[in-house]
Amino acid sequence: MIRLKNNKQIDGIRESCHMLSAMFRELIPLVKEGTETLDLDHWVHGWIIKAGGKPAFLGVGSPKNPFPGSICISVNDQVIHGIPSKRKIASGDLVSLDCGIDLGGYISDQAITLAIGRVSPEAAALVRVTEECLYKGIGAARTGDRLLQIGRAVQGHAHEGGFTVVHQFCGHGVGLALHEDPQVHNIPRGPNPKLSAGMVLAIEPMINMGVPEVKTLDDGWTVVTADGAYSAHWEHTVALFPDRTEILTEDVTKVP
Ligand code: MG
Ligand code: MG
Repeated sequence: MIRLKNNKQIDGIRESCHMLSAMFRELIPLVKEGTETLDLDHWVHGWIIKAGGKPAFLGVGSPKNPFPGSICISVNDQVIHGIPSKRKIASGDLVSLDCGIDLGGYISDQAITLAIGRVSPEAAALVRVTEECLYKGIGAARTGDRLLQIGRAVQGHAHEGGFTVVHQFCGHGVGLALHEDPQVHNIPRGPNPKLSAGMVLAIEPMINMGVPEVKTLDDGWTVVTADGAYSAHWEHTVALFPDRTEILTEDVTKVP
């Protein structure tokens, strides 16, 4: 069931999103060659707690194997759900950072991919095209249109760029819980409800350089490309109003 949010709820979700984007702005300069991803996770945890939020990802999943970090850090062939570790970031890495904050029950969700040091032109293009796919998807998310327009727009742009679309994971409704209906696929598939005012969606293309297939590692979390080729991931939380779509999280990689 899709839960439509009223304006007061969207105000709360917006506040959570702005907090999350403020965190990302401070985090980005720390993501550099030689840094352990676990150190970044500790920093993120401290930042969110100090700001008065709760890390929304920490402890999610089954009680037997809860996610141990406050942020997902997925490097190179890791697509999503990378667990922070002693791994050191190296020049040439693509580092995807995916985080969420629970601020008084209002949940935000955002992801970016950073190219560290000297990356190949193809890897740089993957990062750029994936971010463009995100904005194509958001452009298709309009009150009165149909849900599958989003996946159609994302897929079209990814294929134009010569890349493939991860279809085993998708975006989602968000705001009052981390994962709500509807599923927001990055290809046109599944139910195709009309988009309505009050929907809050996490739109998040995951785009691969090689094959679209992915698999989950034995740790139960880390999703990697089936062929070991690089992947990128960009995500915004957006809210639909009768006459416009507002991006609640902010563009954190450009100078404001
Ligand atoms: Mg996310
Ligand atoms: Mg998400």
